[in-house]
Amino acid sequence: MTQPPSFLDTDNPLLTEWRGAFGLPPFGAIGPEAFRPAFDAALARHRAEIDAIAADPAAPTFDNTIGALEKSGRDLERVSNVFFVLAGADTGDAIEAVERDVSPLLARHSNALYLNRALYARIADLYARRDALGLNAEQARVLDRYHTRFVRAGAALDQAAQARLAAINERLASLGTQFGQNVLADEKSYALVLEEADLAGLPDFARHAARAAAEERGHPGKYVITLSRSSVEPFLQFSARRDLREKIFQAWIRRGENGAETDNRALIAEMVALRAERARLLGFASFADYRLDDQMAKTPANARKLLDEVWTRARAKAAAERDALQDMIAAEGGNFTLQPWDWRYYAEKLRKARYDLDEAEIKPYLQLDKIVAAAFDAAGRLFGLRFAAVDVPLYHPDARAWEVTDQNGAHVGLFIGDYFARSSKHSGAWMTSLRDQEKLSGEVRPVILNICNFAKPAAGEPALLSFDDARTLFHEFGHALHGLLSNVTYPLLAGTAVPSDFVELPSQLYEHWLEVPEILEKYAVHAETGEPMPKALLDRLLATRTYGQGFATVEYTACALVDLDLHGLPEPAGLDVTGFERQALARIHMPAEIVMRHRLPHFQHLFSGGGYAAGYYSYMWSEVLDADAFEAFEETGNAFDPATAQRLREFIYGAGNLRDPAEAYKAFRGRLPAVDALLKKRGLADVAA
Ligand SMILES: [Zn+2]
Repeated sequence: MTQPPSFLDTDNPLLTEWRGAFGLPPFGAIGPEAFRPAFDAALARHRAEIDAIAADPAAPTFDNTIGALEKSGRDLERVSNVFFVLAGADTGDAIEAVERDVSPLLARHSNALYLNRALYARIADLYARRDALGLNAEQARVLDRYHTRFVRAGAALDQAAQARLAAINERLASLGTQFGQNVLADEKSYALVLEEADLAGLPDFARHAARAAAEERGHPGKYVITLSRSSVEPFLQFSARRDLREKIFQAWIRRGENGAETDNRALIAEMVALRAERARLLGFASFADYRLDDQMAKTPANARKLLDEVWTRARAKAAAERDALQDMIAAEGGNFTLQPWDWRYYAEKLRKARYDLDEAEIKPYLQLDKIVAAAFDAAGRLFGLRFAAVDVPLYHPDARAWEVTDQNGAHVGLFIGDYFARSSKHSGAWMTSLRDQEKLSGEVRPVILNICNFAKPAAGEPALLSFDDARTLFHEFGHALHGLLSNVTYPLLAGTAVPSDFVELPSQLYEHWLEVPEILEKYAVHAETGEPMPKALLDRLLATRTYGQGFATVEYTACALVDLDLHGLPEPAGLDVTGFERQALARIHMPAEIVMRHRLPHFQHLFSGGGYAAGYYSYMWSEVLDADAFEAFEETGNAFDPATAQRLREFIYGAGNLRDPAEAYKAFRGRLPAVDALLKKRGLADVAA
């Protein structure tokens, strides 16, 4: 095999060896202009490596083909990882321009890999002889995954079909980038600027956050509500101004649907048509059929069966919730019908009336730093991990780093938390990595990030979270542990490289540990007095866990059903996106007072990269698993039961994609999950379906 060219003699900080602490990239030295040349060089190098593997005159062996592929493309991975962290969490015009340039290049590169006929011939040959190769279990899994990936990418198709697939993939990559940038543009360009007199009903934390957002958006001394969820939702929950609630709500649900340059509807129509065409080329009836074939659910029918079971119950529960809210409006003398922008406001009032509990009373007890410490503590109790803050140069002053070690003090990895919303950050919350765990090229330890969008407090104020924010923090930290605890040899199988209907198990399961008394009692302490949350308040908080689950379940499940409908279309040419969404919701009898959690024009899970296209059901699918998995701990009477935690680490958090997901779950639990635990958790078990 020829030696690929070395690029270590370059000045480009992205391509030279990173000698900083923990092998972090030298963020301070990386300007946006470094990325394009770095991508070009890294792509060329990976291409040379792939060509050398494909053209190797030696007969295919696991090592000279699969092993070599696993060792290739390291520069490209380093450059991409840094770039996509910035493109998501600290972007700007220059990074966005690079992103638009590079996304079709990356798609073309991926095509050149997966549609390489000589390379596929080697993999197919190895796959046909797989039982005679003397592979260990992990190697057999890696070979199987490579073979599946190549076949699903079209490696076995004729040349004409491959050329069309390649064009489709490139176009989809560009459209996905544009989609995300449009949503961010709509969020950045909008600000509801308010005066002191407009803040009726808002508790202190929301006023402080609105004040800080006004500073960031250049309206000092005023108050700004942005289209970030952590800004909009508290306003909808507390503002007594029905006119302003309607105004912000309308802007929020119309992101990506404003009829101007940033309107995403034409992009969606094109993406959905291209995805369906790709599925047909690969022999599937629809994109959903194609997508789910390689998931735990296997078929759209299996996913839909679960969603339907939940949907009818959720709708019945939401109807009862709506009646109670309408009664409250009537009791107050309100002469109007409950509208979507009223739901959160009256739900909050009713919660206060029923449970003597309001969000503003809880919030001072949920300090960001304490909840981070709580997430660390739970990881210590379950897996023996320790976290120590370290001062290392990162890409933004709000990002912080912790070294993770095990109970013997051995280095596990680096964890970076970047928690505050800002206008340079895409909305939502996610986990990502700068480096993944593996052992193929020596012991490589992971660098994992959590990016969130919590409201940043004004200077001198403590950062306070809602209970939902705290749950999000635990969720993303669960993903982080999936990356940090990964214990595999081959990079292909590391950490979160599992089907998307399984990847939410580690994250959603982790949310359960936020609610156990050992954690809340210790970490929910008042920001000013330092007093722990009074037992009575804690009990009332936990008693409200199933309150509002009709609304939450409807808001989510509607998205999952519309996603499956949309991507289940066999030939969606010339799609009218708004009309399709309306009809799909009418078919499932969507309650008029509830809007999808993500409407199609800003549904980034489906269209910004497409990781969850025909896959939004995954959260519910994984919730069946997480509810059932947490019961494994409850059955022992100890939320941190060591033997159960040990199995959890071995088969789930540490196992990456070593096993088929159903097998991995059975190895942990001794059986496949049942849906009962999920219905109980959401308070839907007693609702007539
Ligand atoms: Zn998640």
